[in-house]
Amino acid sequence: MLLDLTRIQGPRAHVERAYGLDQFDARGDDFRVVEPIGLVFDVEKKADVFRLVGRVTTALELGCSRCLEPFRLPVNSAFDLRYLPQATNRGGEEDEVGEDALDVAFYEGEAIDLGQMLREQFYLVLPMKPLCRLDCRGICPVCGANRNTVECGCEAKWEDPRLAPLKGLRGHPDDREP
Ligand SMILES: [Zn+2]
Ligand SMILES: [Zn+2]
Repeated sequence: MLLDLTRIQGPRAHVERAYGLDQFDARGDDFRVVEPIGLVFDVEKKADVFRLVGRVTTALELGCSRCLEPFRLPVNSAFDLRYLPQATNRGGEEDEVGEDALDVAFYEGEAIDLGQMLREQFYLVLPMKPLCRLDCRGICPVCGANRNTVECGCEAKWEDPRLAPLKGLRGHPDDREP
């Protein structure tokens, strides 16, 4: 999944790529890719700086943080990234990177690693707390049933465990009367 920079001759180029499910290696990632990846972008070349402006579309599968069931997250994200040669990433060139350093990335040799770029785009859209749906009812803490699909009828009473020791102290106020 490399973009060969030697093949970008003029100051501008248009690139369209499609990747099958098995082409993106998501082993070790918090998601699975479950739809082919579409990648469309324009490249602007200025000396050894390449600006990539485009969009990625696919769908990821995540585990719900409440009920643990897998669910799909559609991805349709725009990006605008500037790629500098790796050699300039060794300090001293802060001025060139400028204030929008978030959108600056680096390439090594004569290719941009589009797989790494896609991975970063995917992590940008991952929610902090993935939920299969906003009102996911999660797993019953008593019997372990998925409460989205089963009415287990367990008593859903939750007590703050930090308060439990205080209960014993409060028991019989009358005892403390002289
Ligand atoms: Zn859920
Ligand atoms: Zn239950």
